[in-house]
Amino acid sequence: MSTTSLSTRSDGARRRGPSLDVAVVGGGMVGAAAALALARAGFATALLDARAPAPWQVTDEVDLRVVGLAPSSIALLDELGVWASIRQARSSPYAHMHVWDAENGAAIDFDAATEHRELLGYIVENNLVQWTLWQALDAAGVRRLCPAEVRGFEVREERIQLDLLHAESSGVDQAYGGPLSARLLVAADGAGSPLRQLAGIATRGRDYTQRAIVAHVVTERAHQKTAWQRFLPSGPLALLPLADGRSSIVWSLPEDEAQQVLALDDAGFLNALGVASDFRLGRITATTPRAAFPLKLQLAERYQADRFVLLGDAAHAVHPLAGQGVNLGLRDVAELRDTLVAAREAGRDIAAAQVLRRYARRRRSADTLDALGFDALARIYAWQAPPLVAARGLGVRVLDRLAPLKRRIAGHAAGL
Ligand SMILES: Cc1cc2nc3c(=O)[nH]c(=O)nc-3n(C[C@H](O)[C@H](O)[C@H](O)COP(=O)(O)OP(=O)(O)OC[C@H]3O[C@@H](n4cnc5c(N)ncnc54)[C@H](O)[C@@H]3O)c2cc1C
Repeated sequence: MSTTSLSTRSDGARRRGPSLDVAVVGGGMVGAAAALALARAGFATALLDARAPAPWQVTDEVDLRVVGLAPSSIALLDELGVWASIRQARSSPYAHMHVWDAENGAAIDFDAATEHRELLGYIVENNLVQWTLWQALDAAGVRRLCPAEVRGFEVREERIQLDLLHAESSGVDQAYGGPLSARLLVAADGAGSPLRQLAGIATRGRDYTQRAIVAHVVTERAHQKTAWQRFLPSGPLALLPLADGRSSIVWSLPEDEAQQVLALDDAGFLNALGVASDFRLGRITATTPRAAFPLKLQLAERYQADRFVLLGDAAHAVHPLAGQGVNLGLRDVAELRDTLVAAREAGRDIAAAQVLRRYARRRRSADTLDALGFDALARIYAWQAPPLVAARGLGVRVLDRLAPLKRRIAGHAAGL
């Protein structure tokens, strides 16, 4: 790890190529996709991250973190030229979703065929998506600086200058030198976003005081390319189909119950999981080690500041019950790219306040509606008073029969 001291801008300018249009901080799935999309759209782009993703290999055990990618996300990754390799490397298409209520038995089904689509989405490993995006950065001309952490930033005239704690760059960047400055700073540095805090942007939301336990499990019966989700009074349990026939679980539980489940030995865990899933896929016979993630609803009060925007989890963290976090983040990416391209075509400064406001307004209202919708679902499924449980059951049964409304919900989740 080397430390890059900040030299004056003119020193650096002599040694570098075209000055940066955009610096993206955070190379998770969303930030890496943003850097690639912006570079492909012709913007001089750098990507900075505190650490590089671990290399992904097909011989590796399936990453414990998986996501369900909606068609809108697949379309973006395809446009960026990385989807074919992700799909071929290891991915699991699913064509059905079955959601049911532990309290009243009411169920709702979503089926790709009735939506006139081949699939509802794909389950993929976070690490595979991130790694594949990183592999495409050099060819797209993205300057990678890693490890690099942003300590502060300052707007000077028409640029934003970053104060880096340390920066190591790939070969492409050796010639870069000097302090890093760009016309626009994009913060994709995750839910804890240090950059959002540096920009003084507050968040609102709530702590679910729940943890999501994740593991990959072997079930007695096949998953049938179906994403299963059972709502229990304690929280939802999802079983997502993996390519090797196992299912990946996301089991949301109150903190204390999650601690108890994490402390169980494997036999106890498999049994508890079987009961929680109502043995829908039969007995659960084997599991990987488990991991757990705290859950919160967090929305940034603004997505934009002077020459600065937020995207991905830095802007919005949502409950995983709808499996939409990264899908929202990738919609932010597409919107930001389109907004900046339109500004450039109109001969405007890509980081002008009106330009960034347009991105921020569109994405913040869409993300807020979705986040509050997922939160409402979490609240409704937490109802335990018998009349409310009965009303919920009635509502779900009616909804399951209302094909046009169901189609709208499925289309919205798909990002179509
Ligand atoms: C249990 C669980 C299940 C989920 N399932 C789904 C699903 O099915 N579908 C779905 O769409 N979403 C799902 N999500 C949500 C999804 O995982 C997140 O929305 C997504 O990973 C966020 O990506 P990101 O790139 O915005 O942030 P992150 O993945 O958090 O990446 C942030 C990056 O910023 C870097 N960074 C942080 N600080 C700094 C700094 N100071 N300087 C430089 N770099 C920095 C980090 O190293 C990291 O690489 C799930 C989440 C959980 C917890």
